[in-house]
Amino acid sequence: MMTLFVATRNRHKAQEMAAILGTAASVRDLAVLPGAPAAVEDAATFEGNAAKKAVALAAWLLGEGRRHLPPDGPWFALADDSGLEVDALGGAPGVASARFAAVDDTTGRAASLDNTPDADNNAKLLRLLAAVPWEQRTARFRCALALAPLSRESGLGEIRVFTGKCEGRIGFAPRGEHGFGYDPLFYPVGHEQTFAELGEEVKNRISHRAQALAALRDYLQGQGML
Ligand code: IMP
Repeated sequence: MMTLFVATRNRHKAQEMAAILGTAASVRDLAVLPGAPAAVEDAATFEGNAAKKAVALAAWLLGEGRRHLPPDGPWFALADDSGLEVDALGGAPGVASARFAAVDDTTGRAASLDNTPDADNNAKLLRLLAAVPWEQRTARFRCALALAPLSRESGLGEIRVFTGKCEGRIGFAPRGEHGFGYDPLFYPVGHEQTFAELGEEVKNRISHRAQALAALRDYLQGQGML
C-alpha cells in the first residue's frame, strides 16, 4: 500500500484527505512524525508554499526521519497549502489566510508567519466586509497539493502540483459547528448553508481540497498506484 506523509499539523486537513482518498493509501500526518521540520511558508503563491512544505518533509524523511519509511513503498510527501480569496478585498487574505488577524490593513504584511486563531481571522474578515452587500461578497477557497515521490535509491523525485477551487460568498455572521478556519463564514455556490453547517460529507464532495485531491487521485490511478 502506498504511504502519503502529509506535511500538516492541521488535523482537519489530514482527516479530509484520508476521507477523500479512501483506504488505498495510508495517510500519516506530522502528529506521528516527531522532529519533522516546519517549512517557512513565505512564498507568494499557494503552489509555492505547498512545494516548500513537501520538499522540507521529503528531505527529512530521506535523512534524519528515515526510520519512519515503512519497508515497502511507494512513499510520497504531500503538502496542502490553501486559503481564501475575497474579491471585495482584492484577493485577501490569500496566502496569509492562516495569519489574517495579524496582517496590517495598510501594508498587507504580518510581523510574523505564525498562525492566528480562526475566531480572530473570521472576526477580522467580518469587520472588513461590514459595509459590503451580499452580491459583492464573492470569494473562493483555493487549494494546492504538492506531491513529492521518495525513493531510497534515487531520493526526491519530480514534484507535481494539483489544484482545486471552490466558489462561494462570505456570510454576515458565523454559522455551524463543523470543519475549521473560515468554514462558518463560507457559503459555497448552490448552497444556503455554510461549510460548517453542511458538514464533512457535503464539504468533501465539493471543496477546493476535494477538487485537488480528485486530480491527485486521477494521477495516482493513471500511474497504477491507487
Ligand atoms: P495553511 O495551513 O497555511 O495552508 O493555511 C490555510 C488557512 O486557510 C487555514 O488556516 C484556514 O484559515 C484557511 N483554509 C484553508 N482551507 C480551508 C477550509 O477547507 N476551510 C476553512 N478554512 C480553510
